[in-house]
Amino acid sequence: MLKAYKFRLYPAAEQKTMIANHIGSCRFVYNWALEQKIKSYEQEGRSLSQYDLNKRLPELKKEHEWLKKVNSQSLQGMTKNLDSAFTMFFREKNGFPNFKSRKNPIQSFPVPQHYTVDFENNVVKLPKIGKVKAVLHQRFEGKLKTATVSRTSTEIYYISILVDNGEELPEKQEFSADTTVGVDVGIKDFAVISTGEKIENPKYLKNSMKRLKVLQKRVSKKPKGSKNREKAKLRLAKLHEKISNQRNDFQHQLSSKLIRENQAIAVETLNVNGMLKNHHLAQAISDSSWSSFVTKLVYKAEWFGKTLLRIGRFEPSTKLCNVCGYHNSNITLDVREWECPVCKTKHDRDINAAINIKKFALQAKNLIVT
Ligand SMILES: [Zn+2]
Repeated sequence: MLKAYKFRLYPAAEQKTMIANHIGSCRFVYNWALEQKIKSYEQEGRSLSQYDLNKRLPELKKEHEWLKKVNSQSLQGMTKNLDSAFTMFFREKNGFPNFKSRKNPIQSFPVPQHYTVDFENNVVKLPKIGKVKAVLHQRFEGKLKTATVSRTSTEIYYISILVDNGEELPEKQEFSADTTVGVDVGIKDFAVISTGEKIENPKYLKNSMKRLKVLQKRVSKKPKGSKNREKAKLRLAKLHEKISNQRNDFQHQLSSKLIRENQAIAVETLNVNGMLKNHHLAQAISDSSWSSFVTKLVYKAEWFGKTLLRIGRFEPSTKLCNVCGYHNSNITLDVREWECPVCKTKHDRDINAAINIKKFALQAKNLIVT
């Protein structure tokens, strides 16, 4: 069973430079590999595998000598990451893999193997970078899998280590309509459950979001290139990190609760990239960061032998009456409540959608007949 552990790193100045080199080189290889894949598909109709790409890496290194300074396994880790991104794209109908930008708030690179963790001395030894100070606040035992070193926009460093503790995953527990809930992304709320429960974003998160708008305005008012603008930017970046931590905590609590209280959870797979293009939804979707929430549900379901059921986007969960099945094509984004003209049931838009998600998911498993 795989578990992830995350620790703060305190690299020395020259180690920071090496980390920056690794980040830059890995981003370069990822973007190169994505381009190779697209080109080969467009020109030859051929899909390049991770193996094909790795075979081309030595040639790339000859063209760009600076790539030789970094751990070659980290570079190969990027072709693997790209491969996973494509698997997600095809299997989950997730967005097409994007090129990596240096502007992303969190920059990272993988360390697939040959690193060591020294709990006694609070040190992590990384290939090509050496012994880096760390705060190893949590001990673990097991086989070290891939580690990921990351740097935030406020220059905080982390290492996230995947460990196989050798334990088997528990067997999946049985589930039925009574022990399954459907969960939908709310428009106003973070999530809406088929039981009728609506889960708002917590107050502290909302307050931080309000503050975010204030700080964003301050940055834009300061003249470009000025010291004050840099200061305001740093404050903004710090708040972004705080929000991301708060959101993570909230999502952990909610996902644990849902997993604990139910045998199966049904969700819709969202095409986040597609939805971000829709201007009205952009804020709501990125704010609630639905996909990172679903990721937490996925692995917690595995840990506890529960089941995560996923239905495709193509099911019109918002537009169907969950009682009689009437299809109401008039449900636009601003419709919060509606009455079914056939069976006269009064619907809350989001609760109706959550009930439908549960229904579709169970139908797919032949667990309810309608
Ligand atoms: Zn109806």
